[in-house]
Amino acid sequence: IMEIRLENVNKTFKNGKRVVEALKNINIKINDGEFFGVLGPSGAGKTTLMRVIAGLETPTTGSVYFDNNVVARDNKNIVDVEDRNIGMVFQTWGLYPHLSVYDNIAFPLRVKRWSEDEIKKRIYEITDILNIRNTINLKPGQISGGQQQRVALCRALVKNPTILILDEPFSNLDAVIKDSARELAREIHNRDTITTLIVSHDPADIFSLADRAAVINHGVMEQLAEPLEIYDNPKSLDISKLIGDINTFEVEIENDNDTPFFDLNGTKIEAPGYPAGRAIIGIRPEDIKILDNDDKGYKNIGEATVRVSSYASGQFKITLSFVNSDIQFSINSEIPYKTGKNVPIGIRENKIKFFDIN
Ligand code: ADP
Ligand code: MG
Repeated sequence: IMEIRLENVNKTFKNGKRVVEALKNINIKINDGEFFGVLGPSGAGKTTLMRVIAGLETPTTGSVYFDNNVVARDNKNIVDVEDRNIGMVFQTWGLYPHLSVYDNIAFPLRVKRWSEDEIKKRIYEITDILNIRNTINLKPGQISGGQQQRVALCRALVKNPTILILDEPFSNLDAVIKDSARELAREIHNRDTITTLIVSHDPADIFSLADRAAVINHGVMEQLAEPLEIYDNPKSLDISKLIGDINTFEVEIENDNDTPFFDLNGTKIEAPGYPAGRAIIGIRPEDIKILDNDDKGYKNIGEATVRVSSYASGQFKITLSFVNSDIQFSINSEIPYKTGKNVPIGIRENKIKFFDIN
């Protein structure tokens, strides 16, 4: 069990003449035993953040603490990688193809000079827990992707680390195995309440696993909250898109008397507390629907024309455009609608998200 704290962490890389600011003034406290998510687009700085925590990189400036002990400060590791007791699983798993599953998992223990008897006992134990005991004499190339991922997890866990780092661990798995891999990660965390960090660009990983998550974009931590809070109240348009589908509309907020409002397809909608001027509003697909008999909580905003219907995982995705404009948006529906049909549209007003135009 371990608390991790980053204080004003900056990381810059020099690529020839080009300077990349991979992390900009990051301040995060990850609690003892927490399952902590890091979400962000590719190139945001997620892996760099994990490598700084692990001790594979030093922060250019700033400090990293484990509990109250400083482990890195201002371009110097005070506690080295080997002494940080961290288990890591990366996207590519990094198994040694010429070694058996057994020898892959034994590797970190041999580095630590455990005896072969102790190693054997521990490998039997951990491969039983992760249900790959029957693969230990095979090579990574002879087992499935899901099993390879479990081998990587075993290797990360074999030393009983106090921190587990999972950097995009599921991106090479197909959808069906992904779910059971998430379940396994949850189980491992619950077993020892080991402080666990999961990095992903896939919101499903964050929603199913993380107690809290940090959103990183261009090296800046833009939001830190519980996943549902990020979903409901994303701090920026970029974040709202990162964590789920969202329909966006550019609107003009007017403020001539008490309550600010804007016009959406000819309907006046209130925007309490928002300054006058142009803004982008966001509405998630589940907060906008084709009105039928069960419309409690939805405000009618007039008609739209069905443009395209597609079908995926038990739902129709219907793309529509407002009758008097060609602005398109998408909703989810349990039933199909015919292209060209005009239908009444309702929205959940209190779920509208407002973003500045910059
Ligand atoms: P993510 O994991 O979110 O995709 P990374 O942390 O890998 O992002 O990279 C963040 C930025 O830092 C990128 O612009 C990347 O090119 C740069 N970067 C990462 N590692 C190095 C390195 N060793 N040398 C130079 N630039 C790097
Ligand atoms: Mg990465």
